[in-house]
Amino acid sequence: DPVLTLEGLTKGYNHGKPSEVRVLDGASLTIAPGEVVALVAPSGAGKSTLLHIAGLLDVADAGRVQIGGEDVTGLSDRRRTTIRRNDVGFIYQFHHLLPEFTALENIVLPQLANGATGSDARARALSLLDTVGIAPRAGHRPAALSGGEQQRVAFCRALANNPKLLLADEPTGNLDPETSDRVFDALMGLVRSTGLSALIATHNLELAARMDRAVRLEAGKLVESGAQ
Ligand code: ADP
Ligand code: ADP
Repeated sequence: DPVLTLEGLTKGYNHGKPSEVRVLDGASLTIAPGEVVALVAPSGAGKSTLLHIAGLLDVADAGRVQIGGEDVTGLSDRRRTTIRRNDVGFIYQFHHLLPEFTALENIVLPQLANGATGSDARARALSLLDTVGIAPRAGHRPAALSGGEQQRVAFCRALANNPKLLLADEPTGNLDPETSDRVFDALMGLVRSTGLSALIATHNLELAARMDRAVRLEAGKLVESGAQ
């Protein structure tokens, strides 16, 4: 089964008013297991809207979403929340780490909430931090870490509960170009080491070219971006 299938999604804001904006207008996409897909579009085109619908944080006006072969379109909020927590990892442009906890604890906590034991959760957190090259920083709070290190911790947190699908919204967008490049490598290394499928929004075409393929969001539809 595909890890993610989006079928004919439509979404508008300010329904029925003269100011109505149709952000998605028949957006469709299929992501196979292990595939890493770039979502390329300028700011304001609807990338966040699409990612929020794919990640069950928002609902479309029409169309269907399947995660791991299961149609999640009509499920109850409670069931959607369970699927989101178990099967989907999110990364945002800003890390959203808990400031009073260390890097390690930020990765341990979601695992404890999901029923893991403390020792298993710590071992997994350290292994993830090691994969992105910052295990020695495990005991530091976010404020003591550089922007790139903070994002690496956020990547590890997104993978803490071993999701099926990773959704990322400009994951290196707040970093300077050189740092962004290295931190993106760390993200790709992490994703490849786990065989995870991912949809990663970026307006950086060089980063997009390092993924398996790219789709462009154009006039509310997803268009395969062939020759980049
Ligand atoms: P992107 O992530 O590509 O920058 P968004 O999905 O955030 O785009 O937004 C797409 C469009 O939808 C923008 O024009 C934005 O102003 C509009 N929009 C987003 N969220 C809302 C909302 N809650 N209410 C009204 N308009 C919104
Ligand atoms: P904004 O709120 O303007 O979108 P932020 O950078 O503050 O931007 O991002 C916080 C994001 O977290 C929001 O986009 C919101 O949709 C998302 N969010 C809300 N609830 C959850 C949740 N339970 N898990 C993951 N992300 C969530």
